[in-house]
Amino acid sequence: MLQFRVTLSHTLLMNQNAFLHYKEFELYFGEKKLSDLTKDYQQPVYVYDLKFIVARLKLMQQVLKKNKIFYAMKANSHLDVMRTLQKNGAGADVVSAGEIERALQSGFKPEDIVFSGVGKTEKEINRALELKIYQINVESMPEMQRIAKLAKAKEMKAQIALRLNPNIDIKTHPYIATGLHENKFGMELSALEQIQTLLQEHKDSLELVGLSLHLGSQMHNLSGFRDGLKLLKPVYLNLKQKFPTLQRFDVGGGLGIFYDEMNLEKENSLLAHYAEIIDHELKDLNCEIQSEPGRWLVGHAGVLLTQIQYVKDTPYRTFLVVDAGMNHLIRPSLYDAYHGIFPMKQDPKRAHKAYDVVGPICESSDFFAKDRKLQESKQDEFLVIADAGAYGFSMASHYNLKDEAKEICI
Ligand SMILES: *Cc1c(COP(=O)(O)O)cnc(C)c1O
Repeated sequence: MLQFRVTLSHTLLMNQNAFLHYKEFELYFGEKKLSDLTKDYQQPVYVYDLKFIVARLKLMQQVLKKNKIFYAMKANSHLDVMRTLQKNGAGADVVSAGEIERALQSGFKPEDIVFSGVGKTEKEINRALELKIYQINVESMPEMQRIAKLAKAKEMKAQIALRLNPNIDIKTHPYIATGLHENKFGMELSALEQIQTLLQEHKDSLELVGLSLHLGSQMHNLSGFRDGLKLLKPVYLNLKQKFPTLQRFDVGGGLGIFYDEMNLEKENSLLAHYAEIIDHELKDLNCEIQSEPGRWLVGHAGVLLTQIQYVKDTPYRTFLVVDAGMNHLIRPSLYDAYHGIFPMKQDPKRAHKAYDVVGPICESSDFFAKDRKLQESKQDEFLVIADAGAYGFSMASHYNLKDEAKEICI
């Protein structure tokens, strides 16, 4: 079935051991021996491998040849991560004025920026208009009216794309599904008549340039994605007749990665399948195709170093209480997400034991793993939490006023 074949010119990605691997019982991330980064350790540290991010972007550019890639910066907005992606040809998908400023600060031009999100304030829309960013993805009719009003006051035309909600289930965690009627995102297809009336009414201040969809995150099965494109294609063609300025189709982000196994081959074939679906479903629209990957670009490219504070043995459980918590990395607490956990130094003489790896925060949901088999661990030793490059630091909170994590790029 799969006619589309990926040829990998980026050998780094062929080698599973290129990033997190042991050498002489020491854990390495890329070329970096992680214990070198704990010399004056004070608090948890995120480590990002910029080379790996470049390799991922290049691979994606190579496979999604015709797509314009807008990095969903909410996944990881570290300045050097952003700069790296910008220098290598990505645009930015932003969801707030704060992210717009960060994108500009890291070298993105206004014309590289797409602005998504359900709750854009007047201030945020004004900023986007002032800068003449590339595109605003509109998520509701009241938002459309607000954009029209603000653009009119500036005597300009806002370049908008309609984010549509096709009511499609991609079988992901309910908190990261966004393409269902019960979700707050996008506009339902039954509103299209009204939407068109609004567009006509405000034709002096709104220019329809695109259609967009984003079905959610961690897509591993792409049949819902294919259905979404199939559903929106006739909508695009129909709108195009009435609004000839329509020329872009934004397929969103959400391409999944695997956290429970390091299987880049499998991810590469998922990417190839994704490309094949986009190509097959949309090629005869002859329009600009945009995608907004976040996790896929940066997820594997970060790890979180944490130090064991206490080994707390009870008749029921053995807890490794570490200094990182849900305030630093909330994915396990929020989505029951799995992250690999590795001792920074391997000791083959030690036995293995089942641990609950927990943080210091005053919540029982503050855990990284339950009943996880690890080599026997001791106070003050370090653990490394894998695949923390996406939705890690960017989702951190001030809860309990613990020190924030440091971030280091290698
Ligand atoms: C979060 C988000 C993305 C990125 O999702 P990933 O799963 O990280 O690829 C893309 N587009 C929109 C509109 C989003 O909200």
